[in-house]
Amino acid sequence: AVQWSPFVQTFRRQRYPWVQLAGHQGNFKLGGERGTILKKLCPKEESCFQLLMKDPLRPFIPSYKGNVTSDDGEKFLVLEDLLGDFRNPSVMDCKLGVRTYLEDELAKAKLKPKLRKDMFEKMLQVDPSAPTAEELQMGGVTKPRYMVWRETISSTATLGFRIEGIRKQDGSSSKDYKTVGSSQQIVSVLHDFVQHHPHALAKYIERLNQLQATLARSEFFATHELIGTSLLFVHDHSKANIWMIDFAKTHRLPGGVQIDHNSPWRVGNHEDGYLIGLCNLTQLLDQLLVN
Ligand code: ATP
Ligand code: MG
Ligand code: MG
Repeated sequence: AVQWSPFVQTFRRQRYPWVQLAGHQGNFKLGGERGTILKKLCPKEESCFQLLMKDPLRPFIPSYKGNVTSDDGEKFLVLEDLLGDFRNPSVMDCKLGVRTYLEDELAKAKLKPKLRKDMFEKMLQVDPSAPTAEELQMGGVTKPRYMVWRETISSTATLGFRIEGIRKQDGSSSKDYKTVGSSQQIVSVLHDFVQHHPHALAKYIERLNQLQATLARSEFFATHELIGTSLLFVHDHSKANIWMIDFAKTHRLPGGVQIDHNSPWRVGNHEDGYLIGLCNLTQLLDQLLVN
């Protein structure tokens, strides 16, 4: 049976609840095979999974087991269910990178920079001081302006990652972190996430350090721009682990373009800030360990 909650989709199974902390409801289904889930197929994402299964990063990726077509003709990726080995897991989705839109998406938005009243209103709602005098007067903002601004209300633009959603061991979950922007706010959310499981913190830090070392020798990482990908943190009373998920906006770099994932992004340079986020996230967790 499928249970719906206002924020988070959960599937109740025999041994453990499954939770989806981001994305559209309906993008995921339980796999037919035990220990797998189905994610609506996007061909770009599928080709990433195929490459990643042969890359040094493989231990950090949910196993990709091919695809299936449902009765109504919809295609799904078959992926390892990362929650499968946990009992009543706590789960956190952190989206990495200094921006979560593609260069293409920004360029497209710039082609017809119409004034958008809806985006202006969303902006006002979050921060009445965000619109410029001119925007206030016009009662609208352009989409590219809105896209760039939106990354500044969370920690995405400043720290290179943001918290997307959390499910805690008590069963409560939230996706309401859009304006958690300062290091201090994040440290307090992270503290809350691990507080009853001190063993998890050290394991998480160790795993992030391994990830960083592995990224340095990954052919996939050297040749791709990672936009909108997440690190999925999962722990329970005895275990803790982290995986890389969500490659729907991960694209091979255009010919001749190289990035170091660590330099500031400027329009057109394709830098994603992945390592900026990874480093800041690790540092904030380190802070918790010390305190
Ligand atoms: P968005 O682009 O909005 O982030 P999406 O539709 O691309 O969403 P994902 O980000 O891949 O979807 O996944 C959404 C959520 O589903 C994750 O936050 C996580 O909670 C859950 N999830 C995704 N993949 C797995 C997996 N392999 N095992 C367990 N849970 C997963
Ligand atoms: Mg995602
Ligand atoms: Mg996605």
